[in-house]
Amino acid sequence: MTTTPHIVVLGAGYTGVTAAKLLAKRTDATVTVVNDRDRFVERMRNHQLASGQRLRHLPLHELFKGTGIRLVIDRAIHIDTERRQVELAGTAEPVGYDLLVYALGSHADLDAVPGAAEHANAVAVAEQAARLRDQMRTAGTVAVVGAGPTGLETATALAETYPDHTVRLATSGALGDSLSEHGREYLHRAFDRLGIQVWEHARVAKVDANGLLLEDGNHVSADTVAWTTGFAVPDLAREAGLAVDDRGRILVDGTLRSESHPEVYGIGDAAAAHTQDGQVLRMGCGPGGLAAACAFHAITARLAGRTPKPLRVKVDGLCISLGERDGILQLTDLDGSPRGKVRTGRPVALVKKAVLHATGWYNLRHPGLVLAGARQG
Ligand SMILES: Cc1cc2nc3c(=O)[nH]c(=O)nc-3n(C[C@H](O)[C@H](O)[C@H](O)COP(=O)(O)OP(=O)(O)OC[C@H]3O[C@@H](n4cnc5c(N)ncnc54)[C@H](O)[C@@H]3O)c2cc1C
Repeated sequence: MTTTPHIVVLGAGYTGVTAAKLLAKRTDATVTVVNDRDRFVERMRNHQLASGQRLRHLPLHELFKGTGIRLVIDRAIHIDTERRQVELAGTAEPVGYDLLVYALGSHADLDAVPGAAEHANAVAVAEQAARLRDQMRTAGTVAVVGAGPTGLETATALAETYPDHTVRLATSGALGDSLSEHGREYLHRAFDRLGIQVWEHARVAKVDANGLLLEDGNHVSADTVAWTTGFAVPDLAREAGLAVDDRGRILVDGTLRSESHPEVYGIGDAAAAHTQDGQVLRMGCGPGGLAAACAFHAITARLAGRTPKPLRVKVDGLCISLGERDGILQLTDLDGSPRGKVRTGRPVALVKKAVLHATGWYNLRHPGLVLAGARQG
């Protein structure tokens, strides 16, 4: 490696921006960020976008102004680990690296169910969330698929914004099955209040122009479909020969370094990191922030010839908005099981607003806050 290493960060989502800005500010490395669009996508607010709220416009070149980061707007199509370079879709010249931070995030897997790619709108993808918003103006009935946090936030946001529409939700499990009993009861009451119709233990076999065909043969009619389940990750790591898990997430050790390629680090949804207890870190912004901070510490420690400390996570939690004025906050153990008392109501909605402001505004400008948060673990 050269004395001034060149670090390339692939992906400028929540974790990529954090890692890039920390590395640019607090190391001597030169930093290049490759992202396929020149704006930061606040994915955590896509359900708000779908329900008609205006999101902030966050151009990456403004977020990186004054940092010395070189920004390349292009799609990475291949990582050549032998030559240590990233090939791009629109630029003949590849980008070479000494160290690579892989932070390409995740996207909705619409190929798993026939008809989903043609007829469903994936809330995880900003452009499709915007399409759902447009369709909601004329649709009388919407079917939300999935009851993870994104499904719950989407169904409640749509029901609250469009009280005259019919909102339906189909889930392969039970409503609120990751919550404590009190949390589940609260969720059911909120859904009843908002008039959301629920199909539990309902696997979707097919999506068509008229709604959902379930595996049990029932049909859930809808004018438009919001897809919130089945997250997949880009195939670049697998195709490059990096060690990946069965979902294609890059396998990393406790310092977020690739298990197969020590010059590569993996953070965020596209990496399979493990907590000190051996649990896979869930896909999410909270765990992603910890991973970005840990990778930053590991890179700086190794550049200085020190041994880095591994990732330590003490507690996790779900903070789910149920519309603008309600929510559920559930702390969890590292295996995802509910822990302690669930918090509910308007105070939680305010906490969630603060989280969204921190992740989509403050942290992007002052990523040192992520380091402070990571110390709390
Ligand atoms: C509606 C919704 C609500 C959510 N709410 C929460 C929540 O409350 N709490 C929580 O913890 N998590 C939440 N999440 C999950 C959270 O958004 C993700 O965990 C987070 O975005 C992952 O961050 P990341 O940096 O790994 O990836 P991303 O933020 O997805 O960023 C990846 C970046 O890589 C770019 N990219 C991808 N492929 C390429 C390529 N080939 N070349 C160049 N660039 C590429 C993308 O454009 C993007 O900019 C929510 C998600 C959704 C959809």
